[in-house]
Amino acid sequence: MSPQPAIDDMNTIVSLAKRRGFVFPASEIYGGIGSTWDYGPLGVELKRNVRDAWWRAMVQERDDVVGLDSAIIQSPLVWEASGHVAGFTDPLVECRSCHRRQRADHIADDTCPDCGATGQFTDPRQFNLMFKTFMGPVEDEAAIAYLRPETAQGIFTNFDNVRSTMRKKLPFGIAQTGKSFRNEITPGNFIFRTREFEQMEMEYFVRPQDGFTSLDYWREERMRWYTGLGLDPSRLRFRQHDADELAHYAAAVYDIEYLFPIGWSELEGIAYRGDFDLRQHQEHSGRKLEYFDDERQERFLPHVVEPASGVDRCLLAFLVDAYVEEEVRDETRAVLKLHRDLAPYKVAVLPLSRNEKLVPKAREVYDIVRARWVSDYDDSQSIGRRYRRQDEIGTPYCVTIDFQTVEEDDAVTVRDRDTMEQTRVPIAGLRSLLEDRLTG
Ligand code: ATP
Repeated sequence: MSPQPAIDDMNTIVSLAKRRGFVFPASEIYGGIGSTWDYGPLGVELKRNVRDAWWRAMVQERDDVVGLDSAIIQSPLVWEASGHVAGFTDPLVECRSCHRRQRADHIADDTCPDCGATGQFTDPRQFNLMFKTFMGPVEDEAAIAYLRPETAQGIFTNFDNVRSTMRKKLPFGIAQTGKSFRNEITPGNFIFRTREFEQMEMEYFVRPQDGFTSLDYWREERMRWYTGLGLDPSRLRFRQHDADELAHYAAAVYDIEYLFPIGWSELEGIAYRGDFDLRQHQEHSGRKLEYFDDERQERFLPHVVEPASGVDRCLLAFLVDAYVEEEVRDETRAVLKLHRDLAPYKVAVLPLSRNEKLVPKAREVYDIVRARWVSDYDDSQSIGRRYRRQDEIGTPYCVTIDFQTVEEDDAVTVRDRDTMEQTRVPIAGLRSLLEDRLTG
């Protein structure tokens, strides 16, 4: 059977995200500002968890990669050297019928996706995607600055700083996460394509002869990261870029694609960029960026393999993939079966009611769990409704405090999100039980 998307309609997730406080339309009280989104209380936790999982895997658990946090606004000379001023463009066409603009490479059958007119497009012209602004108090040509369209260039310009201060030998990588900005012609599909988004990029520097081996290594490594965090392998695939599709700097590119409700789409690009970037910066800046290999007594420009992903797009894939509707006792239960490392809250503490006997005990339990995990405390509404809410926001464990807890056994009930199994455990053993289940 051919793979199916986890859900048919993106709106299922858009509305859950809004209803449960993950993602809101930006500037909503003013009618919104097209395709721009704000992350709510749960979204911000989920986003942090995605970024942290990437950082752990790419930096903290490795000996050969270090981190960086470079500025969003760099010298405009950086973007001239990198080729972005001249070439970071998408082909733009305008429909003569509805006057909407489209990306020429996203048009099928010469048909306008907005009004349905066919054969009405103007010839394509190249549209630069960089956001321009002015730096300092004077708004003239000399003060033009750009918001970075990718985080990678800040890594290349710091290559020598990092290499020398950290005494790094090849192969080694430099990773960073942070906001990037692209004036996309057709943003859309919720947070899949926006004009402001967050990237997670790593530049891995190798000897020239090791480029393709390293590309293979990073492809596998990155695919493992997604499946390890719970994405269904049948909804993931590699797609190699054809020669005519390759960016001018790239020797080979593989995308990791995910089967979104909109079809197979890029989640991450893994590019073998040769020495293009370091060479450009060396030529434009006049600063030597070569690496001296003291074993072989050779001087050369390292080659680079770049796994480049997006926090928002990953977050969308994780949400879509985790969403399940199940029939439980003639009722439909919606659950986000998020990996425990990604779930916004790991534990929810739920006193059976607001009864004054239960509340102090419940607060005591809450203090125990929140000292270790990002947790929620909820004493509103019926217990059934509270379970449903926690299921829908993906909380792996609910801990319930009832009258038996305070009157008899000083024990609580731990409910598992996925199996709905309930385990009675003494409060003294709660932390170690959760430790086993959440980290074991
Ligand atoms: P596309 O072809 O979809 O425009 P791209 O190939 O230009 O994307 P890259 O430059 O390879 O994208 O960026 C690396 C990653 O950054 C992408 O795989 C994606 O996860 C993320 N990304 C890029 N552009 C956007 C965007 N406009 N909105 C959200 N995420 C983005």
